[in-house]
Amino acid sequence: MSPQRDELPNLELTEDDIAFRDEARAWLAANVPAEPLPSMDTADGFRAHQEWEARLAAARWSVVSWPQEYGGRGASMVQWVLFEEEYYRAGAPGRVSQNGIFLLSPTIYEFGTKEQQDRWLPSMATGEVIWAQAWSEPESGSDLASLRSTATRDDSRGGWVLNGQKTWSSRASYAHRGFGLFRSDPDSTRHHGLTYLTFPLDADGLLVRPIAQLDGEAGFAELFFDDVFVPDADVLGEPGQGWAVAMSTTGSERGLSLRSPGRFCAAADRLTALWRSHGAPTAFRDRVVDAWLGAEAYRLYTWGTVTGLVTGRSIGFASSANKVFWSELDVALHETALDLQGPEGERFSPWTDGYLFSLSGPIYAGTNEIQRNIVAERILGLPREPRGAGA
Ligand SMILES: Cc1cc2nc3c(=O)[nH]c(=O)nc-3n(C[C@H](O)[C@H](O)[C@H](O)COP(=O)(O)OP(=O)(O)OC[C@H]3O[C@@H](n4cnc5c(N)ncnc54)[C@H](O)[C@@H]3O)c2cc1C
Repeated sequence: MSPQRDELPNLELTEDDIAFRDEARAWLAANVPAEPLPSMDTADGFRAHQEWEARLAAARWSVVSWPQEYGGRGASMVQWVLFEEEYYRAGAPGRVSQNGIFLLSPTIYEFGTKEQQDRWLPSMATGEVIWAQAWSEPESGSDLASLRSTATRDDSRGGWVLNGQKTWSSRASYAHRGFGLFRSDPDSTRHHGLTYLTFPLDADGLLVRPIAQLDGEAGFAELFFDDVFVPDADVLGEPGQGWAVAMSTTGSERGLSLRSPGRFCAAADRLTALWRSHGAPTAFRDRVVDAWLGAEAYRLYTWGTVTGLVTGRSIGFASSANKVFWSELDVALHETALDLQGPEGERFSPWTDGYLFSLSGPIYAGTNEIQRNIVAERILGLPREPRGAGA
């Protein structure tokens, strides 16, 4: 008997929503590959995931909430989250295009010109062009506003010349285009005088050097810019206003947290099945129950957020509490699965892969220490921690 996740309190699904969910469920059941694809952090796996993106796009399941003209279905937020639940429930492949589709595209819709939308969105939807986020620098991670890479004006060519270094750029080893923040006013400090630029990853003067992850695969790259020219047409938003544009992208990471309840529910269901297949040992009962409850609590909380958003509320700083919750849940859930398997849990498997990836959850999308600062200071109103000069 599997846990029932079909009932949603306080949220009326319309007939259209139910038809949409059923159509998605049927398509996924017929199309999700029977065998997991190879890791998208390998050259072969990256290609296999791009092919999957093309297949999703051909059936218009790649960007369901986008307008039809760019390959979407104009789906509502409720339908989008329903789709994501179905996606994870079906065990469908990870989205190699996620930095573009879930982080960058909302920013392109908000700040991009019509010409940029026409030029960038269709190939993003089909997975033909995969985008990498190039924000972090060796000395600027949590404190992004301390970034030092520069964009220098070149009026004669009508554009900007980029210099500096970015790091921890996911999948940049294989991706096609990047987006990042650069200091365009040399006299500016902190959040001022920044410009949001996009660039091809094979541009002249740009060196992409892969960095191996914990599992040995080139999941990241560092980028070295040596006089890389970017035309004005590839600036997103107003020059000098990059921080505001970037905050729109950061806000879109909430989109990822709206996507994820399906991810944790699916993992908790797999953990429950694993526990049963090991004879349901009572020693692990409470940890399995906690994982299932955590996933369910997170799912209900997320649907509460969706209900709020469709009635005009915003997520605000609560997303920081959310982020700490899901990332810690993911680690605990995978640790339980490995412990439950005993020595068998030492062998490579989807569980070990999931465990290694879960360890990065408290780091990416803003570290949990930073999220706790936000909760302490902005939600609980506790005193601010001492900041360094200029912060
Ligand atoms: C899986 C994964 C994928 C990533 N993908 C990308 C990507 O695609 N593009 C990209 O640009 N970046 C990416 N990153 C980088 C990520 O954004 C940074 O690792 C993150 O912002 C933290 O920055 P840092 O590593 O420089 O650590 P630091 O900022 O140097 O922090 C080091 C430690 O100090 C703590 N700390 C720092 N300041 C404070 C403070 N004020 N109070 C309390 N504690 C503090 C941090 O929480 C952390 O524990 C990725 C990271 C991971 C793990």
